[in-house]
Amino acid sequence: MSLDKIANPLYARKLGLERLYQYNLSSLENGWLHELLEELEEDVDEEEALKNPEARELLVELRLEKLFSNSYREHFFLRAKINGTYLTHCSRCLELMKETLDVEFSCCVLPAELEDTPEFKEVDTILCRNQELDVYFYENGQLDLKEILHEIIFLNINNLPLHQEDCKGLCGECGVNLNKENCSHKNS
Ligand SMILES: [Zn+2]
Ligand SMILES: [Zn+2]
Repeated sequence: MSLDKIANPLYARKLGLERLYQYNLSSLENGWLHELLEELEEDVDEEEALKNPEARELLVELRLEKLFSNSYREHFFLRAKINGTYLTHCSRCLELMKETLDVEFSCCVLPAELEDTPEFKEVDTILCRNQELDVYFYENGQLDLKEILHEIIFLNINNLPLHQEDCKGLCGECGVNLNKENCSHKNS
């Protein structure tokens, strides 16, 4: 599904207790999605970011299903796909570049009361819908999707982005961009 094909930013389908949401960054209603993008672009100058709107697209598709069991009580199966691009700097030459984000994950969200019980205290994954899934918790009946997505995104981003695979980086001595200039220093 291409990013520009979704005219309606919020598309919710009710399937019993299951819901599917699609969020597109172009919608101003989804402030939390903008916040996620801003977190990704923390090191990017705001003016530079505004000059490159085409490089800044995020699409989040969420499937949220409410479940109940005696041991997990009211809990949620969450499946999310996050696709798009954001601006960052090349880790070698520091040039502004567009980076791709493509994450797909599932997790189980349990009520916070369970977090401190002996059964769940040291547990990172549980069996939910026949899958071994990462565990998150919700508090006071509120599920903070942004917090969960934030964590997932930052676990999955490329921490050493390269504007091109063979980027020569900067000279360690004089700092020139070796993709553009040569200098007399030995750079291996
Ligand atoms: Zn580079
Ligand atoms: Zn040099």
